[in-house]
Order: sequence, then structure tokens, then C-alpha cells
Amino acid sequence: MGGSPRAGAWRGAAAPVGGGFPPHPRAAIVSVGDELLLGETVDTNGTWLARQLSDLGFRVVRRWVVGDVPGEIRKGVGEALSTAEVVAVTGGLGPTPDDLTLPTVAGLLGLGLALDTEVLSGLEARFQARGFGVLPEEAKAMARVPEGARVLANTRGSAPGLALESGGGTVCVLLPGVPAEMKGIFRDEVAPLLRARFSSRLEPVSHRVIHTTGIPESLLAREVARLELPADPTVSMAFLPDLRGVRLRLTARGRPGDPGVQEALDRFEERLEPAVARFRYRSQVGDLAESLGQALLIRNQTLATAESCTGGLIAKRMTDHPGSSRYFLGGVVAYANPVKEALLGVDPVLLEEKGAVSREVAEAMASGVAARFGASAGLGITGVAGPGGGTELKPVGTVWIALSVGGAVVSRREFFTGPREDVRERGAQAAMALLLRELEGTEP
Ligand code: AMP
Ligand code: MG
Repeated sequence: MGGSPRAGAWRGAAAPVGGGFPPHPRAAIVSVGDELLLGETVDTNGTWLARQLSDLGFRVVRRWVVGDVPGEIRKGVGEALSTAEVVAVTGGLGPTPDDLTLPTVAGLLGLGLALDTEVLSGLEARFQARGFGVLPEEAKAMARVPEGARVLANTRGSAPGLALESGGGTVCVLLPGVPAEMKGIFRDEVAPLLRARFSSRLEPVSHRVIHTTGIPESLLAREVARLELPADPTVSMAFLPDLRGVRLRLTARGRPGDPGVQEALDRFEERLEPAVARFRYRSQVGDLAESLGQALLIRNQTLATAESCTGGLIAKRMTDHPGSSRYFLGGVVAYANPVKEALLGVDPVLLEEKGAVSREVAEAMASGVAARFGASAGLGITGVAGPGGGTELKPVGTVWIALSVGGAVVSRREFFTGPREDVRERGAQAAMALLLRELEGTEP
């Protein structure tokens, strides 16, 4: 670790508190790599770092994605350094000619590069240990370290991370692009370093997510507006819709686990309850299938599925969860009509007269699979997933869902929008929600 007072060198000292800095330190992220701009690789490093920095208590203000081009790297990192106190750069630290991040950022900060013998011997030892012999000349580029930089050990790969400091006191960390290496260095080296340096100014935020399904975002927003909630400066809320439903994310300032934070989130959640009760489900991992599994389990019930348009999606999602054999017995993918007849006992006359996508067939599938599997609940689903196969009476997106519980059958028709995969995803979700609501109406 260097102790040079020069601009650019890593000083490692605590940041001046109140010395003109805003109260909550700002962070920015620069992801480097041509593959990110070609759309070949998703910038998961950028999102991961954003999450980590936010969780530490930084306000992440912007992210850049730039190619392996010195001018672009310089521009991106330069802008980042001028807007944030912490800049995390990921990618382009390796030994190949397209790895340009290190010399470019060093140049930007006016720092010379010098061979670090300790890093070099580490690289050589690693190379030999893996049976590759003598370290090639090009790989020595990874041992060239900017003056005064702090070397961040990479226990999962070769190129180490580096912590630098700009003249303005901004911390700039350079991390490899390989996700496992980037994450390891961040957790082991960067997070402790940032915590120590910014300790008193970090302000973590705590989130709580309320999962809903079966109501579009606009209608849910209307339900919430009807509550006329009193203004609460301590908690903010965001609507996060996707194919499976709408998540409500509550955010409060303060560490998760702080009694005050918990209390603020509890209060907000309680006020929301009348608007969300009919649509919400509770799940650790955010999956309705988990919630449904628990509802079945505590009622000693079992489920079997008969799926046509969803092709086994419900069975897949139910069995994604460990321990699901306690309540999920199995399913039939009954795609062709003869299979609906032979394996589920659907009457060929129904198929002929009502069509495969009909209330009658969905109900026969649900009760047929429940009876044949000896399950207390059976779900049947049949629909037109598209893109072809729609008619005027049964357009693409028409899905019949049926539920058979203890001999009683309920069913409903849905019209879903979107391409084939959306119809299937929405169909599976709606079928599971139908059963969950039914179970919730009965005592455990
Ligand atoms: P690099 O350190 O730039 O040589 O990157 C090595 C590998 O890490 C690339 O081939 C990508 O597979 C992966 N990678 C690089 N940058 C990112 C990123 N921002 N997000 C996810 N993966 C990445
Ligand atoms: Mg690269």
C-alpha cells in the first residue's frame, strides 16, 4: 500500500467529514467491454455492483457502459470521477491486447505504471501451480501497477484489482470483468475498504417487497390511491410490474434490522393491506409457487396438474422448490387430444363439441388428473398460446383454467396479451393464483 501524497495515489485515510462533501456519498460504475455494447454479454457486473454499493449505503448516481477503446474509457471514467466519490470500473484488466482499462485509467490520473514484484511473483506461482510453466511476457502486463495504487488480491483469478485515488479525493477501484473474480475482490477487499473510509456518511436503505398477482399496475395504483394514505416521509414506494404480477417495493432509510426501520415499514405495509390483500402472496424468493406450496402443506393438501398450453410450466415451477414432493404429486402434459382422453379421461365428445380450449375440457382435465393421481387438488389449463390457432371466438391469449378441489370444480377464462411465452407465463401464474386464493378461503 502506498503512502504517496501525490494526486492519484491511494492514501487510504478516512475521508474528510463535512469538508464540502454531500452527506451521502455518491457512487458511479463504469463497465468496460466491446461484448457489452454488441449485446453479446449482459452487463450483470454493473447491476451487481449497483446493488452492492447501494446496500453499503452509497447513492449510485450513474452507470456507463463503454467499449474497449481508450478514448471511450477515458471519457466514461473521467465523467464518473467528476460526479461521484467512488467509481467502480469493471472489465479490461486482463493480459490480452483488448484489455486497455489499466493503462488508460492510469494515464487519465497521470500515474505511471511500474512492475510490482510481489504481484508478479504471485502470477508466476499461480501459473506454475496450474502446470503451465513459465509466465508469458504478455501476462506480465497484469503486474504493472499504477504508482501508489493499492493492490486488491484476486484469489479466484490472475489480474488483481486496484484501488486508486484521484486528485479530488475520489476513490477509483478497478476490477476484472470475470464476474466471479469481480465479486470476490469486491466482497473481500473493496467493501471493507469503502466501509472504513466512508463509515460515518454511509446511509444504507432497507427494502421490503410486497408481491401481488392478478391485477394490472394501473388498477393496483388506483386501489392504493383510494386509501388516501397519509404522507410518510420515511418510506417511499415503487411499482415494479412484470409478467407474473406487480411488486410493490417499499424503501426506508436505515439499516435492515434497525427497530425504527422495521417499524416504519410495518406501519406502511399495514396501511397498504386493504388495497393489496386480495392480490398479494408471501414468498421468501418471490415466487408464487413457493407460496402455493406452503399453503398446500399447512392444509395437508396435495396437487396434481394437467397442462396443455403451458407445457409443464406449472409442474416445473412447483418443483423448483425443495421439499415440493410433500405436496406436489405430479402432472401430465396433455398437449394432444388423444392424451387428454387416454391419460386424463377427458370425454372425446366434449373435445369434439366444445373444443380443446373450453371450460368443459379444462374442468375435465382438472378433475381427471386429481382423480388419477389421488390428489386433493387438480389444476387444468388449456389455451391458445399463439401465434397461430386463434379464432374470432377464441383469439390468441384465450386460456381456460380449472380447479378441482374435493370434488368441487371452479373455472375461469382469461384473455392474456403478448407473445406465446408471455401467454404461457401468465397462464401458469394465474392457475397457481386461482388455487392459492381458493386455499386461502379455507382454514389451515
Ligand atoms: P475482461 O476482464 O474484460 O477480459 O472480461 C472477461 C470476461 O468477463 C468477459 O468475456 C465476459 O464474459 C465477462 N464480463 C466482462 N464484463 C462483464 C460485465 N460487465 N458483466 C458481466 N460479465 C462481464
Ligand atoms: Mg474485456
